Amino acid sequence: MTSLDSSAYAYEAPVSADLFARARTITPGGVNSPVRAFRAVGGTPRFMAEGSGPWITDADGRRYVDLVSSWGPMILGHAHPAVVDAVTAAARRGFSFGAPTEGELDLAEEIRDRVPPVERVRLVNSGTEAVMSAVRLARGATGRPVIVKFAGCYHGHVDALLASAGSGVATLLAASGSDVARPGRPDTPGVTAGAAADTVVLPYNDVAAVEAVFAERGADVACVITEAAAGNMGVVPPLDGFNAALRRITAAHGALLIMDEVMTGFRVSRAGWYGIDPVDADLFTFGKVMGGGLPAAAFGGRADLMERLAPVGPVYQAGTLSGNPVAVAAGLATLRHCTDEVYAHCDEVAAVLRGAASAALFAASVPHRVQQAGSMFSVFFVPDERQVRDYDDARTQDLARYTAFFHALLARGVYLPPSAFEAWFVNAALTGEALDRVLDALPAAARAAAEAGQ
Ligand SMILES: *Cc1c(COP(=O)(O)O)cnc(C)c1O
Repeated sequence: MTSLDSSAYAYEAPVSADLFARARTITPGGVNSPVRAFRAVGGTPRFMAEGSGPWITDADGRRYVDLVSSWGPMILGHAHPAVVDAVTAAARRGFSFGAPTEGELDLAEEIRDRVPPVERVRLVNSGTEAVMSAVRLARGATGRPVIVKFAGCYHGHVDALLASAGSGVATLLAASGSDVARPGRPDTPGVTAGAAADTVVLPYNDVAAVEAVFAERGADVACVITEAAAGNMGVVPPLDGFNAALRRITAAHGALLIMDEVMTGFRVSRAGWYGIDPVDADLFTFGKVMGGGLPAAAFGGRADLMERLAPVGPVYQAGTLSGNPVAVAAGLATLRHCTDEVYAHCDEVAAVLRGAASAALFAASVPHRVQQAGSMFSVFFVPDERQVRDYDDARTQDLARYTAFFHALLARGVYLPPSAFEAWFVNAALTGEALDRVLDALPAAARAAAEAGQ
């Protein structure tokens, strides 16, 4: 069954269906970010009305256990009282001044204290902006044009990084006759060949491909950017030593390493992926958890590099709402409550869910593989159950199975990412009744996945 007819599940959510119809008349596809539209799984996207702890409630009044957590930020659960208090207090003091405020320093210092290679921090409004600025700084500091990225890694909708992001076979240098690499091609209309021409896309976890590119054009490479642990093609952690190899190769060629921790940062440990696999990148990017659900993000790194930013250095970067006091209050309160106990709880709950999902699928004879990066994990419906190491592997999934699994859980009040290429995000509020609901729903969802197989 590949029922992606968008009316197929509409009956389950009449109010959301009406809102979605109205939404499509005012914003393209009815959503303000594409994956929210449920296009990969079909059916009616649920309009959310409120959230509390591990629960979210849609416009039809139906309650779900939230395993998306706003794609990561809501690590403490929804409407955490301490975060609500901090945001309310900040709002009472005024929303924005366009002048520096002390809270910005507190948040930046909290980030520096957690991730030692980050000596200086600049606050921005989104992960996209953090990455865009870090890449500009890398190019400005090195005076070199080329960016190396990995297929299946997402770094926000930065023009230069929407190049060949979907092309499993990577890479640049066709012009030079290399079969290792070829020039990045834009993934989307609106990104010019010029904007993508200096982007090299390589297969994730392939050190040899990185070495080959550097052997041919190492002197042109400004930076390698990688997700600290890939979570945007489903969860594909770096193989042992992969990030360290990137550090070694870039350093040998005078290029910079940008570790994109927008997703992993402050989620998988106190120090993000750096706390699990401590590779000293030159620059780090952060977002999601550090904004606590409000728009705040950051990039940071070595002081000598960061000091090349305006106003001390020549590389321009700015933002009217950067370091917004209300967003900073949400981020700071969230990080301050992200204690060792919170991380231990997330690890534990994630382990329980991984085990239960796998057991249910095994019992229903559904081929699959569960992969994790700290408490982030995803279930790949891969036919051969082999380790998923890169984007090509991830794309061997049986998407019809995921669709059936997703909808079976949704119908039972469990909200999974509406795409097979996304991580599941637990939160510290996920306990008791909410956890039981997921565990109770998994066997039926596994049977639905079994029936949907091709
Ligand atoms: C989400 C994400 C981004 C983009 O962040 P936005 O706030 O959505 O712009 C960048 N990099 C990674 C690794 C992400 O997961």
